[in-house]
Amino acid sequence: MKITTMAPLLSVVAPCFNEAANLRELVQRISAVVAPLGNYEIVLVDDGSRDDSVAVMRDLAAQNPCVRWLALSRNFGHQRALRAGLDSARGDAVISLDADLQHPPELIPTLVEAWRGGAEVVTTVRQDPPESDPFKRWTGRLFYRLLNAMSDTPIEPGSADFRLLDRRVVDAIRALPETDLFFRGLVPWLGFRVASVKFNPDARTRGQSAYTLRRMVSLAASGITSSSITPLRLSILLAVGLACVALLFVVYALLRWAAGDAVPGWTSILVVVALLGAMQLFVLGVIGEYLGRVLRQTQGRPPYLVRTASDEEAR
Ligand code: UDP
Ligand code: MG
Repeated sequence: MKITTMAPLLSVVAPCFNEAANLRELVQRISAVVAPLGNYEIVLVDDGSRDDSVAVMRDLAAQNPCVRWLALSRNFGHQRALRAGLDSARGDAVISLDADLQHPPELIPTLVEAWRGGAEVVTTVRQDPPESDPFKRWTGRLFYRLLNAMSDTPIEPGSADFRLLDRRVVDAIRALPETDLFFRGLVPWLGFRVASVKFNPDARTRGQSAYTLRRMVSLAASGITSSSITPLRLSILLAVGLACVALLFVVYALLRWAAGDAVPGWTSILVVVALLGAMQLFVLGVIGEYLGRVLRQTQGRPPYLVRTASDEEAR
């Protein structure tokens, strides 16, 4: 049995990019719900905001000793800001949520309850409200479908970066050398005991979404390339498909040639082009396979993660 002398600490991490208008309400609503749960800290990560987010953070930290903040040197993007927050958080459980109040802090007690019930990862799944931007909804759905068709650790559609991670899980993530983390894809890869909670996201009332189309495409690309090597395999599949077609072509060209109604040179050019095309794609596919291995290796993910072992239980 582990003897705990201190009450567990809850960390709430929020990456912020130009969220000055939301921060006061955010901190007020978070502390209102987590203070009754015990010790807590709120870690605000300024991701190179161009408004006065940092000044507001400084002010909030002066008013409430449970508020800490850190400011990144420039805008690194949501996922990296999140990682900075995880690195800085000291809690036994770390909850991450968006600073724009689209993730209702009032759900935190539900996440904590699931954690106390033994879950090590508590994920949330958005129930899309009908009034949300149809373009975002549609592209989001397409993205999850595409990703899940390729990846062997599926992500539940509607997954949000609103989740609770046990200290063990945070430490496992922090040990990864990968620079481009895509948390939504990483979390299902991690395993551990997972619980999931549904929620209705609120509309953004102040400030605007930093996710432009360009950023969404880049997030999607990093999500796919970090959790799947299937695109690299596509050329082999294409090569096999093309080889079949090429073979039909070759037979057809030879028949025409045998019948004597082919222009001289037509048969040989067609055969050579079709076969060479298929062969090139095949070789590209082989290179892709090796590149995939190189990618996996450079990502440096451990081959497995251990949840517990007898040695540890004894302590
Ligand atoms: N964010 C960030 N860095 C960025 C873009 C966004 O830290 O470069 C934060 C932002 O402040 C918010 C969260 O990430 O807390 C989600 O961003 P946003 O609301 O713009 O995304 P959406 O909800 O539209 O997907
Ligand atoms: Mg948002």
